[in-house]
Amino acid sequence: MSLARVRHWVFDLDGTLTVAVHDFAAIRRHLEIPQEADILDHLATLPAEESHAKHAWLLEHERALAVASTAAPGAVELVRELAERGHRLGILTRNARELAHISLQAIGIADCFQADDVLGRDEAVHKPDPAGLLHLADAWGVRQPEMVMVGDHRMDLLAGRAAGTATVLVNQPENLWPELADWHALDCKHLRELI
Ligand SMILES: [Mg+2]
Repeated sequence: MSLARVRHWVFDLDGTLTVAVHDFAAIRRHLEIPQEADILDHLATLPAEESHAKHAWLLEHERALAVASTAAPGAVELVRELAERGHRLGILTRNARELAHISLQAIGIADCFQADDVLGRDEAVHKPDPAGLLHLADAWGVRQPEMVMVGDHRMDLLAGRAAGTATVLVNQPENLWPELADWHALDCKHLRELI
């Protein structure tokens, strides 16, 4: 398959379309989460009140980051080009949907995504679970092999593999997970050359 033929694209947000700014080690320290633990999984194990309070802190911390989002190299041009070709575009992020909208607005491409096609951690079980991709495949009426999941992290690729979509790793200097990534692009500029 050639990426030029793919008409249904799902992107991770932080570190993929925006410059990665989350200091996850600091977040874990602040929320007293073990450094090796998955933040969202860990919060889900806490008593309701503590989990709620820590989620609230996380949301406000991430809101400040979202407002100050900057576009990753070539991301705006890539997304605009795909949208101009009439392709269907979605976001699957472990961030909150509300904050994803703020980030997309901050970098000037919010109009390229239908609101329902932006899935955050409250709309679908978070990556590496494939639920979000399966939801979009269903909503778009497309088979998963005709979709591609683009991300900068192993979890994005695992979600794609589990859902049966094609996968692209971006914004990493080399292909760290060749068994999980169908394509590797240094950044979105490079990825645009492949479409
Ligand atoms: Mg990411």
